[in-house]
Amino acid sequence: MTSSALHTAALRRRAEILAWQEQSPPRGAAETGGIDTPSQTLYELRVHQIELEMQNDELRKFQLDREVSRYYYVDFYDLAPVGFCTVDDKGAILQANLATAKLLGVPRDQLIKQAFARFIGLEDQDSYHLMRMRLLQTQEVQSCDLRLRQNKGEPLWVSLTVSATLTADHGLVMRIVLSEMTERKRIEAEVLAAKEYAQNIVETVREPLLVLDAGLRVLSANQCFYSTFQVLPGNTIGNYIYDLGDKQWDIPKLRLLLEDVLPKACVFNGYEVEHEFPGVGRRTMLLNAREIFRLDVGSKVILLAIEDITERKLVQEQIQHLAYFDPLTDLPNRRLMLDRLQQALLASVRHRQRGALMLMDLDNFKTLNDTLGHSQGDLMLQEVAARLKACLRDGDTVARIGGDEFIVMLEDLGESPLQAATQAAMVGEKILRRLSQVVELGNFKHSGSASIGITLFGEAGETADELLIRVDLAMYRAKDAGRNTLCFFDQQMHTDLTTRVLLEEDLRLALQQHQFSVYYQAQVNARSRITGVEALLRWQHPTRGWVSPVEFIPKAEKSGLILPLGLWVLQVACEQLALWAMRPETAHLTLAVNVSARQFRDSDFVSQVLETVHSSGANAKLLKLELTESVLAANVEDVITKMKTLKAAGISFSLDDFGTGYSSLSLIKRLPLDYLKIDQSFVHNILLDPDDAAIAKMVIVLAHTMGVQVIAEGVETMEQRDLLATLGCHNYQGYLFGRPVPIEEFEALVTLDPGSSPG
Ligand code: C2E
Ligand code: CA
Ligand code: CA
Repeated sequence: MTSSALHTAALRRRAEILAWQEQSPPRGAAETGGIDTPSQTLYELRVHQIELEMQNDELRKFQLDREVSRYYYVDFYDLAPVGFCTVDDKGAILQANLATAKLLGVPRDQLIKQAFARFIGLEDQDSYHLMRMRLLQTQEVQSCDLRLRQNKGEPLWVSLTVSATLTADHGLVMRIVLSEMTERKRIEAEVLAAKEYAQNIVETVREPLLVLDAGLRVLSANQCFYSTFQVLPGNTIGNYIYDLGDKQWDIPKLRLLLEDVLPKACVFNGYEVEHEFPGVGRRTMLLNAREIFRLDVGSKVILLAIEDITERKLVQEQIQHLAYFDPLTDLPNRRLMLDRLQQALLASVRHRQRGALMLMDLDNFKTLNDTLGHSQGDLMLQEVAARLKACLRDGDTVARIGGDEFIVMLEDLGESPLQAATQAAMVGEKILRRLSQVVELGNFKHSGSASIGITLFGEAGETADELLIRVDLAMYRAKDAGRNTLCFFDQQMHTDLTTRVLLEEDLRLALQQHQFSVYYQAQVNARSRITGVEALLRWQHPTRGWVSPVEFIPKAEKSGLILPLGLWVLQVACEQLALWAMRPETAHLTLAVNVSARQFRDSDFVSQVLETVHSSGANAKLLKLELTESVLAANVEDVITKMKTLKAAGISFSLDDFGTGYSSLSLIKRLPLDYLKIDQSFVHNILLDPDDAAIAKMVIVLAHTMGVQVIAEGVETMEQRDLLATLGCHNYQGYLFGRPVPIEEFEALVTLDPGSSPG
């Protein structure tokens, strides 16, 4: 090596040494109270070594190498970050490194020969001596954590590891490794406190709570879990969550949630299980889980909350039930029915199966409700619901869609419309028969009837709304056809359909545009002579033709239009009376006008009637007002007062549709009546049904005892008339004697009637 090359290498080494010194400045000088650290010496030695290398002195270099390796060892021993020390068999310190000096808080030179035990806190003296004894006995490595007693300040936590070695100069010595662990102890204490804190929180939760480890075994549970599930910690801790469940739990589903969903989402909410609790019964439990990372164990744990939601679910179900079921009959309500209808429409097209929709409206229910009271009306509806259900198959739907209206839906009636219609008609007939059986409502026996509209479905494109309009129309047809019957929707109805929807608006217009007229139907006596007449409203609609009062009167009542309409009829009737008074052949005729309960209730009713009679110049004695029992739903005293006021003016009263209501006889006896009118439904069946004959007979007897006259309506045959006569009824009205006709026709009839003139 040339001298210049050597010089360059030396300079490079020097630079290396300087850099090394700067990076790791010699430790220990300050900490050990000015003891000359081996590292400083080491650096100098290395510098010297480099210089020697340059002089190429082989021997000196060998000696120095040994020196260097010794210093390397000393460097490692002295500067190790843990304490090393050697203690002789009497417990005195033989050697100690700088870390030991630092831990014990005494300069290293003052440590030698000191008893090691001197530096140990009083509270840990026993553990130290015990460990030492065990070491000497067993010669096996021992360890323990203890506190060192420093001159000042907090005790220092160290972990001691001791081993025994036999040496030449000192016999059996103890080598001690000390590592500081104050920080670790502090963390341990914190974790312990945190655990306690967490357990306290877990205990404050009012629901059963489980903490699971990542392998889904129970780590801990709160008291509430044990008391609810009636298990002991011994049967819980360490068990798999799946083993705690009931047979009813859907384990595969739970597995999916815990092992698939949870690891991805860290949370899952709301898994419901049924759990059978001994002595308590089945409860619905809701499982919610959340995954959290636990610092103390360095892994995930799962918090599983188990909430008893049985009551909440029950309430929810009740609310749900209320939303879809009629509380009175427990039948599906309109909403649910619509839902099912929509589904049925789709299914019927898909499976090419016809279905039928029926709308059923109870006849005279309003009267029953008004006269017997709502509680009896409710009983009746419940009875009807039960009977309807009894008439149907399991898959059929029966719903109550309002007041006294029920919907029946039949599905899977086959492919052919004819076949479907036949089946639907059979069910409809069955319902009618069933409903006509007597119902006992408290003290009353009632045989109900209904009007049923039917329409078929199963064509593509039909909507629920359209079907409902169809059955509604068919139902009104059934009502028109005399009630207690069923009627299918057909093409003719379809034509009417478009206009019917507008009925209510049309009514208003009709009144303005004089589309109403009054027809007259004769009332005759025993000798078939016309004694009077009933005024019946007729509506000729500009596009739809004649609209039945059965259809529009209820709508007029509902909208209040019955008030102006009723007044108009009264005016026409009174003017007619005044005109008839001027002609001998008509002067004696009485004129009956129908008054609906809504009109009678009106506070202006009495004054309006009196005013109309007065201004028309009619003879009040020839005016009869026909009331139905529904007027009695109002305050009876008020009704009687009104009747008496009108009676005082000469007007007479007839109780219409008698026999269909339920007013108590004692109440009816108090009314200042002049006529009882036997309802046409009894007359209709009088020859066929002994019950109806008995009712007719009862009305007649009642009229006689009350001292009032009796008249039968709806008389169509001579046989009916004759039977009524035998029973004691001698006044009649019905097609047998004349249909309701316009005034001209009626007057022609009267003029022809030989007995019509007075005398
Ligand atoms: P209602 O007072 O019981 O009238 C008798 C109904 O029976 C009338 O029906 C009449 O046309 C019908 N009728 C008469 N004889 C026979 C018969 O022999 N056989 C059959 N099957 N039916 C017969 P209409 O005219 O359709 O009236 C129906 C209902 O509309 C009336 O029943 C009444 O409650 C109501 N109404 C009619 N006009 C008025 C009115 O001006 N004011 C009020 N408030 N209601 C009215
Ligand atoms: Ca009438
Ligand atoms: Ca009647």
